[in-house]
Amino acid sequence: MKIVLASSNKHKVQEINDIVKSLDLPLEFTLPPSDFDPIENGKTFEDNSYIKARAAWALSHNWVLADDSGLCIDALDGNPGIFSARYAETPSLRIERVLKELNGIKNRNAHFTCAMTLINPQGEIAYKYQGVCEGSIITESRGSNGFGYDPIFLVKGDTRTMAELSEEEKNLVSHRSIALRHVLEYIKKNLSNE
Ligand code: IMP
Repeated sequence: MKIVLASSNKHKVQEINDIVKSLDLPLEFTLPPSDFDPIENGKTFEDNSYIKARAAWALSHNWVLADDSGLCIDALDGNPGIFSARYAETPSLRIERVLKELNGIKNRNAHFTCAMTLINPQGEIAYKYQGVCEGSIITESRGSNGFGYDPIFLVKGDTRTMAELSEEEKNLVSHRSIALRHVLEYIKKNLSNE
């Protein structure tokens, strides 16, 4: 079964295909055609995930999986949230902005969220799931693995930041892998004969 991943990121497709292979599932994720460039103007992760999914479906009329993710900080009313990728110009400036906004604030609770939407070849939602990874924001960056806000995100129940975990360790706890595991479970149960 082929599924279009509503993303223009080759690495995301590779990462998901590696996970699928390790689970021995008869699935192959592919990139959408090159003119995939949806306007993500939703108000929630779920909205944006659906917008991306429908845009990739309009180009392919195939099974489509989309994701939208970001960091939500309690004391900042859930920001950067859906603005995570554009909170400042570069990843290090985005971290700098978050640390500045949290300066002097005691409540450092935060979570990463990933909303996934699976669309069928008729363009309807077949399944959706929101994966969450709880943690808190520390006062300075630590670690060099991962990307984005990983160096300032302390994983709940661990003394390390997300950027201090190996890729395998991050895959056990991350919002994205939690959502993906649920989607793959749904596909395995309901669609593996397609
Ligand atoms: P996307 O929707 O997966 O492209 O993620 C949007 C933005 O959220 C990214 O550009 C990052 O700033 C942030 N983000 C999402 N997932 C992660 C993560 O696993 N670690 C760190 N930052 C993340």
